[in-house]
Amino acid sequence: MKVLKFGGTSVGSSENINKIIEIISKNEHNDVQVVVVSAFSKVTNLLLEVAHLSASKKSTYTVILDEVRSIHLNIILKLIPKKNQQEIIAYIEKKLATLEQVLQSIALINELSPKSEATIVSYGELLSSYIITYAMQLKKVDAIRKDARDLIITNTNYTNASIDFVETNKKIKLFFKKNNTNVIVLPGFIAAAHNGDTTVLGRGGSDFTAAVLAAALEASVLEIWTDVSGMYTANPTLVSQATPIDVISYEEAMELSHFGAKVIYPPTIHPVLQKGIPILIKNTLQPDQNGTLITTKQSENKVPVKGISHIENVTLITLEGSGMVGIPGFSKRLFETLAAEKVNIKLITQASSEHSICIGIDNSNADKAKRVIDEVFEFEILRGKLKPLVVEKHLSIVALVGDNMKSHQGISGKMFSTLGKNNVNIRAIAQGASERNISAVIATKDVKKALNSLHESFFRNNYKQLNLYITGVGNVGEKLIEQIKQQQQYLLDNLKINLRVIGLSNSKKMYFNENGISLQHWKEKLDEGTEASLKGFLNNIISFNHRNSIFVDITANEKVAGMYKEYLKNSITVVACNKIACSSEYENYNELKELSLEYDSPFLFETNVGAGLPVIDTLNNLIASGDVVVKIQAVLSGSLNFIFNNFTSKTKFHDIVKQAQKEGYTEPDPRIDLSGVDVARKILILARESGVKLNLEDIVNNSFLTQKNLEADSVDDFYSSLMDEAEHFNILLAKAEKNNCQLKYVAEFSEGKATVGLKEIPEGHPFYNLKGKDNIVMFYTNRYPEQPMIIKGAGAGADVTASGLFADIIKIASN
Ligand code: ADP
Ligand code: ASP
Ligand code: MG
Repeated sequence: MKVLKFGGTSVGSSENINKIIEIISKNEHNDVQVVVVSAFSKVTNLLLEVAHLSASKKSTYTVILDEVRSIHLNIILKLIPKKNQQEIIAYIEKKLATLEQVLQSIALINELSPKSEATIVSYGELLSSYIITYAMQLKKVDAIRKDARDLIITNTNYTNASIDFVETNKKIKLFFKKNNTNVIVLPGFIAAAHNGDTTVLGRGGSDFTAAVLAAALEASVLEIWTDVSGMYTANPTLVSQATPIDVISYEEAMELSHFGAKVIYPPTIHPVLQKGIPILIKNTLQPDQNGTLITTKQSENKVPVKGISHIENVTLITLEGSGMVGIPGFSKRLFETLAAEKVNIKLITQASSEHSICIGIDNSNADKAKRVIDEVFEFEILRGKLKPLVVEKHLSIVALVGDNMKSHQGISGKMFSTLGKNNVNIRAIAQGASERNISAVIATKDVKKALNSLHESFFRNNYKQLNLYITGVGNVGEKLIEQIKQQQQYLLDNLKINLRVIGLSNSKKMYFNENGISLQHWKEKLDEGTEASLKGFLNNIISFNHRNSIFVDITANEKVAGMYKEYLKNSITVVACNKIACSSEYENYNELKELSLEYDSPFLFETNVGAGLPVIDTLNNLIASGDVVVKIQAVLSGSLNFIFNNFTSKTKFHDIVKQAQKEGYTEPDPRIDLSGVDVARKILILARESGVKLNLEDIVNNSFLTQKNLEADSVDDFYSSLMDEAEHFNILLAKAEKNNCQLKYVAEFSEGKATVGLKEIPEGHPFYNLKGKDNIVMFYTNRYPEQPMIIKGAGAGADVTASGLFADIIKIASN
């Protein structure tokens, strides 16, 4: 014998009901099938609404009742052949007329008792079971309908009744002993009290009806047919990467369902667990899929975390005060008070200092709990031994579940660091001694992000989603977007990284698409965007609340750099090629580094020095492994290198600078390069990353420009001053040529001091042959005392800078 339960979504349309009939017909001759059905999709909710509306004297209840009627009639019209429709419609109308009478009497007395509520809501299953059985019989299935109220007997807790198992099992066995039909259809959810009153088993209770029948009849299997292909690693409507779990233990399934995996009603498991009856969760719409098997058998799959669940509408109540320390009996009084008020406790934590006890309950009980607890502890509160109860509403619990978590260390560490990295604040933590469940209380607004980031962390083969917010879409920004567009599929296929651009901004406009901007038409989209604002950009990122959010600064703007702190404090990674922040006052640089550590949000700026060359990364690795920097010598300006490599006695200095700017090798304002400020900033950053506290004004800048060049007020003025002072540059060049030297703009750092300036480099020196826009950095360290570690290559240009930014972004995926 088999028990099959079809949920509301499986009986939501005539197509689905036909699928059920097909499923039943396939097995028909092998075995007796007990078929439990829910109310048609949405009907239970509508009936509850109608019940409450009628009690509040709102005449609109008739509108809702009409909706209930039309759901049933529409299904009948499609499901039942024309010639048989009249009979069944007459039956349904008769039932609905009785229901309407009940509603009218409630409207009259203006009060809805739990007894009436149970009666009203029972109509959903009564009607659906009747229609489905009728359709089966018309298709020649050997089916009868049995009213569950004749078999399932409960107490009079009408809307959430408890089963009298002795009586119920007796009745079920007796009925089935006499039965000789193949298929018996029963309405789920509904039952009867000993006095015959209609009761219901609580929301989702059809699963329970089926489990009680399966246990009483010692069925070979309990099949729960629903709209998803099993119990998933997380709620599939919130976590798109969730996958069905093949096999799961009763205990794991129980934990998951208690923690919100609605696919199975938690009490369902108890009766079948006692009898060792397996539960199979299947998809009515895709019956060929395996589904999930819940059994005592140990699964082959030894992953520590089986699933991730959550419950919403949680209120945290905290009883706190020094008067509790070491005095027994406080918790007893607290729990007794809650039990007396029928407040169900979802989570408890108590610090070993006993200074506070923290309890998670449902929001609906929050006010009641506050009132009764403050009453019970009134004396202690008045005397200052306890504080009045602290109540925090609108929270949720997320829970990791898995039998094998106990044999793995580091699971909770990983859980909390994943949440922390994503700026999910944890309000309370609980771990059962069985270590089958680790729960964290968080804000409800963070649930989706928390579930998805935990899923990414704990399930292999998951894609890691990186969400980019790019500001500055000039030369480099455009190249970066191009590279992302080109690599998106590769990253997905090979590195399992789902790289999405969610926000874009230039100085005028900003544009967002929460699901990822199509990179084909980003320019048009940005043009259509809203007015750009630095704060607005940040606020949008915060409100999207995506996991792994990365802010990319591709401007040279001081105000944008001024925003980094806010980003880091919101656990948003900052990737910058803008050098302003790292070369600003030491305190500011240091604060950014500390915020990055404190909020576990990376601050990456590899492209600040040497564009895409791995200069900072290499330096960080040397320092982290215990090496000490003795000296740094470097040519760090791709633009100055380009300029001096191309400046010959046949060319004009002015023209070469122009060309460098045109080709994108200079900062937007070429004076920043030519004055040496850009190089000074770079060596400053290297000095700081080597562990030395230095400021820009500490760096000796031996400028090669003339006073007139330096005094130029605008870029245009600067260019004309270069023209006017042509002779000065010609002399510099002639001198170098005479000495058989090359002119290079060199940065040096040693013994805590840094200088920048133009130097004549003799033949044979590693800088002598530096071509084009190349950079070179030589690190002399304790481990590389004579032969320095050298990094050399293109150090300017939009393409290489963009690829440096790209590399920083990808680093986040392995973080
Ligand atoms: P039915 O009407 O068949 O009883 P329910 O709506 O009660 O169906 O339960 C199925 C729903 O449970 C799914 O559609 C899904 O949205 C939700 N759900 C939540 N968590 C999980 C999970 N971990 N695995 C599968 N489904 C889940
Ligand atoms: N129809 C009831 C509900 O929606 C019972 C069930 O479907 O399990 O809660
Ligand atoms: Mg359900």
